[in-house]
Amino acid sequence: MPWSLAVHGGAGSLPRDLSAARREECLAGLRQALAAGSGVLAKNGGSLDAVQAAVVVLEDHPFFNAGRGAGFNRAGQHELHASIMAGDLRAGAAAGLGRVKNPVILARRVLEKTAHILLAGPGAEAFAAAEGLELVDNSWFSTEARRAEWRQLAGSSTSLLDVPPAGSEPGGTVGAVALDSAGHLAAATSTGGLINQLPGRIPDSALPGAGTYADQRTCAVSCTGVGEYFIRAAAAHEVHALMLHKGLSLEAAARAVIFETLPAAAGGLIALDTRGHHAFSFSTLSMARGCANASGTCDIALW
Ligand code: ASP
Repeated sequence: MPWSLAVHGGAGSLPRDLSAARREECLAGLRQALAAGSGVLAKNGGSLDAVQAAVVVLEDHPFFNAGRGAGFNRAGQHELHASIMAGDLRAGAAAGLGRVKNPVILARRVLEKTAHILLAGPGAEAFAAAEGLELVDNSWFSTEARRAEWRQLAGSSTSLLDVPPAGSEPGGTVGAVALDSAGHLAAATSTGGLINQLPGRIPDSALPGAGTYADQRTCAVSCTGVGEYFIRAAAAHEVHALMLHKGLSLEAAARAVIFETLPAAAGGLIALDTRGHHAFSFSTLSMARGCANASGTCDIALW
């Protein structure tokens, strides 16, 4: 089975006149994520390992709103969230994290080492510590671009999707979907949430069914956008449901969810079907994205 991989670095409003330096930062992050995931898949590695490897790169990359470079909440802190799911319906997720360097690795441990699906807050961090995962101070996630962005919103009750204050142009939530050479699908998503969100908010990105979904019968999906809409629509699952119950193609199902189910400009998603075909769909100005496959194709785009 020829493997296939797609990644995203968030739906939002990256300006068309994004500076060359910021554009290159974003493209480099996507390239590195594709290289990490492809490296796993090309050696006949599993799709869960591939999506995890790709998302770890994007969590560590300061351009994106996940891991280092995550946005600030209204209390001036970072809260991190991630989920991961395999096509056999195993799923793991972690939410409301303040110290776990790579939330997607914790989500994977929840999938593999517990009988649960979602751990949150102090309990999730205690589990991460017991598993020996790397913990960092909350300030480790801060970058100057995020601080500038937050200063513009601080004191207001606005929490917007990728509000781009002049001079910062930050990236968004990250995700990956993969089909491995054994034919197994997987998806993962990781985020710092919406900028200036209330402390304690849990986004779709932490919720299998809403922001992340994989089902071996149909597809793997990772979403990005205003999470409340994606939760209401069970958006990632909806792509699967439209394929399974209505017989839609991956592309048609992805478009139906983004342009018919969700409100205008709510966000986007990346998806792969069981033959490794990908779909990118978004109703925002931009969605940083890329794909790679066994035949050597590798494409990256922002708008
Ligand atoms: N879905 C994320 C959230 O609601 C944000 C994003 O994807 O940009 O927090």
